[in-house]
Amino acid sequence: MGSQTARNIEILNQNIADLKGDLNVSFEFFPPTSEAMEDTLWQSIDRLKTLKPKFVSVTYGANSGTRDRTHSVIKEIKDRTGLVAAPHLTCIDASKDELKQIALDYWNSGIKNIVALRGDIPAGSDKPHMYATDLVRLLKEQADFDISVAAYPEVHPEAKNAQADLLAFKDKMDAGADRAITQFFFDVESYLRFRDRCAAIGITQEIVPGILPVSNYKTLVKFSKLCNVKVPGWMHKLYDGTDNDPTTRNLIGASIAMDMVKVLGQEGVKDFHFYTLNRSELSYAICHTLGLRP
Ligand SMILES: Cc1cc2nc3c(=O)[nH]c(=O)nc-3n(C[C@H](O)[C@H](O)[C@H](O)COP(=O)(O)OP(=O)(O)OC[C@H]3O[C@@H](n4cnc5c(N)ncnc54)[C@H](O)[C@@H]3O)c2cc1C
Repeated sequence: MGSQTARNIEILNQNIADLKGDLNVSFEFFPPTSEAMEDTLWQSIDRLKTLKPKFVSVTYGANSGTRDRTHSVIKEIKDRTGLVAAPHLTCIDASKDELKQIALDYWNSGIKNIVALRGDIPAGSDKPHMYATDLVRLLKEQADFDISVAAYPEVHPEAKNAQADLLAFKDKMDAGADRAITQFFFDVESYLRFRDRCAAIGITQEIVPGILPVSNYKTLVKFSKLCNVKVPGWMHKLYDGTDNDPTTRNLIGASIAMDMVKVLGQEGVKDFHFYTLNRSELSYAICHTLGLRP
C-alpha cells in the first residue's frame, strides 16, 4: 500500500474517532407479515433503541392494505419504547379527504413525525393524482408535522431528467419538508454531488444519506435496477462466490457501509438513516464504528 493511501485511511479513522458519536441516526423498518418476522423485528428494535436514534420509521406498502399494520407497529413502538416513531405515508392510493383524516388521526394519537411519499404508480395507471409535494402541503395544512421526504442522488427513475428532478425536489422541500432521506446508494460521489447541487439551488434542509447494509446481494442487484441505483463493478467482485455464504456476505456488507459512513462523516455528514430490513446486526455494528454506544 502506498504511504498516501495508508495516510488517507488513517485520517478517515481518526476523523471518526474524533466525532465521538456526536451524530444522529434513524432506523427504518417494515411491518412484519408473520410471527417469526415479528419476533425478529422486536429483537432488532430492542437492540437498536439502545443507540438512542433520533427517530425510527415504518414503511407503508401502497396498494396492499398495510396502512393499518404500519399504524399498529408505529403505535406499538411508541408505546413500548418511547422512541419517536414516524409512519411512512403514500398518497397514490388515497383521496385527499382520506389523507386529511389519516393525518388528523396520527396527530391526535401523538404521532407527529411522518415520512411523506408519493408511492409507486401501479402498473396500468397513468399520471398520479398527487405528488409528494402535494402531500407535504396537505399535511402541513392539517398540523405542524415534522416531515421527511425522499431524495434521489442518482435521479428518480421516472424523472424527465436530473434537472427536472432537482427542481421538483426543491418544490417538495419548499412545501415544508424538514429533511430528506436519500434512496440508498453505493457511489458516495453521487451523493456528494447531489448535496452540492441541492445547496446551489438554495435547499438548506439536511439531506440524510440512506445507508443500506447489503446482506442479500442477488436481491439488491434486481432491486437497484428498478430504482435506478448504480451497483459498482467492484461490488460484483466482492460478493462473487458468496451465494451460499451469508456470514461472509454480511461481513462484506458491513465493511462496504462502514467505508461509506467514514467518508460521509469526513465530508461533514452528521445524520444517517439506516435501511435495516428489520435486522439489527449490521446497522448496529456500523453505528458502533461511528462511535455510538448504548
Ligand atoms: C426514504 C424512502 C422511503 C420510502 N418509503 C416508501 C414506502 O414506505 N412505501 C412506498 O410505497 N414507497 C416508498 N418509497 C419509494 C417511493 O414511494 C417511490 O420512489 C416513488 O416512486 C416516488 O415517491 P416520492 O415521494 O419520491 O415522489 P415525488 O417526490 O412525488 O417524485 C416522483 C416523481 O415525480 C416527479 N415529479 C415530482 N413533482 C412533479 C410534478 N409536479 N410534475 C411532474 N413530475 C413531478 C419527480 O421528479 C419524480 O420523478 C420510499 C423511498 C425513499 C427514498
